[in-house]
Amino acid sequence: MSTHDAVVALVTGGSRGIGAATALRLAQDGADVALTYASGERDAAEVVGAIEALGRRALAVRADVGDPAQAVAAVEETVRGLGRIDALVNNAGIGVLGPLEALTLADVDRVLAVNVRGVFLTTQAAAARMGSGGRIVTIGSCMAARVPGPGGTLYAMSKAALTGLNKALARELGERGITANLVHPGPVDTDMNPADGPYAAAQSALTALGRFGTTREVAGLVSFLAGPDATYVTGAEFAVDGGHAA
Ligand code: NDP
Repeated sequence: MSTHDAVVALVTGGSRGIGAATALRLAQDGADVALTYASGERDAAEVVGAIEALGRRALAVRADVGDPAQAVAAVEETVRGLGRIDALVNNAGIGVLGPLEALTLADVDRVLAVNVRGVFLTTQAAAARMGSGGRIVTIGSCMAARVPGPGGTLYAMSKAALTGLNKALARELGERGITANLVHPGPVDTDMNPADGPYAAAQSALTALGRFGTTREVAGLVSFLAGPDATYVTGAEFAVDGGHAA
């Protein structure tokens, strides 16, 4: 029997990368899954098809989490389309790296809008609609704990903000039986950070395992935290980083 039967999950940024692998893993574990995307309609449709092929319900919602109204609308669409929301995976994120002096006001506003404000507003909307047993899992970054070189000011700031949010969510939502946890991936092979990219070898060298991770290696933990077995885990942070932080 599937562990996640009767769970309805929303994964932001579920059309590609870690979000797509997480949406699929949740469905393999028995959940029905809504996923958002910004522009990748075809990618999102492929993930929906793969989930439906597993016999689960799926829904793709175009929603830029950097837009406050769209972030809230994604949660509303999930409840309208799949009947409820039990688990939210805040995965959508963008990485803008560069020297401090080169980062523009537009860069700052966009990164904070997607990586921080979007997470806050999506969580606020989802928590308001969750019952006891609700799950909030947010994707941070290994750069929240350890910034191995220059160029990461804006991105690391945005991901470190999630630590405060996660702890405060756990405290505030605990009495309603809702948990909140934070997962910090290390270098993971995706479009954002390809394992054959120019900085890949340096990143691999920073891990204890000496390699990039795969999206599936992150998705397994996220699905556990979003599922019914993670009843006594909240306010916690987990590195899935090959030992980057060790
Ligand atoms: P990708 O760039 O490969 O995929 C990003 C996904 O998020 C896509 O589905 C994309 O949709 C969606 N997305 C991007 N911006 C928005 C937005 N504004 N609103 C809604 N959806 C959006 O990223 P990864 O899978 O690599 O990263 C996923 C998360 O993991 C991010 O939060 C990232 O910061 C974090 N992370 C990644 C690491 C890595 O090495 N890959 C390391 C540490 C953390 P679309 O297809 O429409 O563009």
